[in-house]
Amino acid sequence: MNFKFYIGTKVFFGEGCISTNKNEVAKLGKKAMIVTGATSAKKSGALDDFTAVLDEKGIEYMIYDKIENNPALKRIQDGGMAAREFNPDFIAGIGGGSPLDAAKAIAVLAANDIDPLDLFSNKFENKPLPVVAIPTTAGTGSEVTPYAVLTREDIQTKKSFGNEDTFPKIAFIDPVYTESMSRNITIYTALDALSHAVEGYISKRSTPVSDILAEKAIECFGECAANLLNGEIDRKVREKLMYAAMLGGLVISHTGTTIVHSMGYPLTYFKNVQHGKANGLFMAEYLKFNYECARQKIDTVIKLLGLKNMDEFEMLINSLIPNDIRLSSEEVERYASGVMEQRNASYNIRKVSREDIANIMNRLFVEKQ
Ligand code: NAP
Ligand code: FE
Repeated sequence: MNFKFYIGTKVFFGEGCISTNKNEVAKLGKKAMIVTGATSAKKSGALDDFTAVLDEKGIEYMIYDKIENNPALKRIQDGGMAAREFNPDFIAGIGGGSPLDAAKAIAVLAANDIDPLDLFSNKFENKPLPVVAIPTTAGTGSEVTPYAVLTREDIQTKKSFGNEDTFPKIAFIDPVYTESMSRNITIYTALDALSHAVEGYISKRSTPVSDILAEKAIECFGECAANLLNGEIDRKVREKLMYAAMLGGLVISHTGTTIVHSMGYPLTYFKNVQHGKANGLFMAEYLKFNYECARQKIDTVIKLLGLKNMDEFEMLINSLIPNDIRLSSEEVERYASGVMEQRNASYNIRKVSREDIANIMNRLFVEKQ
């Protein structure tokens, strides 16, 4: 055995965890910048719970609520400028992965007056401001990862950055905040969590510790699959999905993702497909492609999900997210080249070529027309 294990986030999990642990917030300082999307922070109830603690503790705050899905660098740059002007002691991200990732990036820019493109160097003169992460989706696990995934117009795709200093300092993970999600967003984000666990599990970079976390996350998803299908998603199910998402985040903090994520990026960038759905669409083909190199682990994935074989897996995914994406052969060729440029493609257990990626995309989105 030979592995490294580091998680830089103090996690509080459970209903009411913000107010139960309000003293933790007070320790971070007297001035906070809250980073959110348009509505989810309010709709979920998380913003009210958090600002109640800030008010009680006499912490001054501003709210930056301009983060769109798959945040673009320009918005991050604006957020960084707003932060340097307001000069907070810490940043709080409230929302899905998009606002949480934006909060991490803004925390770096608040302490470093650099071009946002320099975020991707992963080397910063000054440490980022502390980040509090409050997820309202059960998917990305961003609350326990160091990564921020941002949209890059210059290279027409998404790219992530992150180092040991960009883990959120604190994560308040309250499954109640996910109750306001629609069924579709619940399904998409749950598939993102599943893809983190499965990709990490089968990755070249998997470790004994990440494997334990991944197996539990996959099992939790399996236990929720029937509820995702029939739409009966009660508080217990929400809790389990949130737990799976957090475990998935812990997994990729160690392993990174692989080709499912790198293939999903062009679908999101060019076709506006939601992140978790984009990943979900590739899952079955991904497992089939890797089967010869990871037979035992892939059999375990199927078993942990409570399924008999790959056909059942494919049926489950198709029922959760009918494949309504169509691409031209020219688009496939272009996207496949972009996928090979992504670092995470090289973490895949089976060596992957541009042609392999094009074949997968052709099977899914061209031939099925
Ligand atoms: P998201 O992009 O943050 O949000 C998707 C949609 O869901 C938004 O319209 C959002 O509304 C809404 N929403 C969020 N919470 C809600 C709630 N409780 N009730 C109702 N609506 C809610 O979705 P996400 O899937 O969580 O995050 C995806 C992003 O995270 C992508 O950019 C992806 O690349 C990234 N990601 C990061 C990591 C990591 O390790 N950092 C891992 C995987 C993915 P608002 O617009 O109002 O907020
Ligand atoms: Fe993801």
